[in-house]
Amino acid sequence: MESTLVLIKPSGVERALIGRIIARFESKGLIIAGLKMMQLDEKILREHYSHLVDKPFFPSLLNAMMASPVIALCLKGKDVVEVVRAMAGVTDASKALPGTIRGDFGMSNQENIIHASDSPENATTEIKRFFHDKEIFDYTPCIIKFLYSPDGK
Ligand code: UDP
Ligand code: MG
Repeated sequence: MESTLVLIKPSGVERALIGRIIARFESKGLIIAGLKMMQLDEKILREHYSHLVDKPFFPSLLNAMMASPVIALCLKGKDVVEVVRAMAGVTDASKALPGTIRGDFGMSNQENIIHASDSPENATTEIKRFFHDKEIFDYTPCIIKFLYSPDGK
């Protein structure tokens, strides 16, 4: 089964949205394989956002991502990278569709509530960046047979 990395950003933590965001992933039927609170620093953010370090908004993004602890989640499911990106909505929350996390909870490009991996390859790298191996749990929730057909579809 595929895995993805989600961060509930300071914009989600400070606005007391942690429970509501996690509840959406749980009710969708995604398996929580890892979950923790952590304070990010410049080193990990320069790696995580290496594609953006030369952008003029990068210093502001750094400050925003270090403004409070974040919640890191490793979620599992069929095509979970694509599913969670769809649940997140487009980057600019003011343009994200209603029904998406960014669309329902945000108004900003920068303060857009969550991060979600954008490809299975990046998800693998990002999960390793934020979690030690022993913090990822391989278990089968008892509801699994009501989430998927016997052949996993
Ligand atoms: N970001 C921003 N201004 C921009 C583009 C991006 O502040 O013009 C921030 C925003 O918080 C976004 C993060 O940088 O979530 C990473 O950007 P990316 O293009 O990877 O978007 P995402 O994958 O998060 O939708
Ligand atoms: Mg991205």
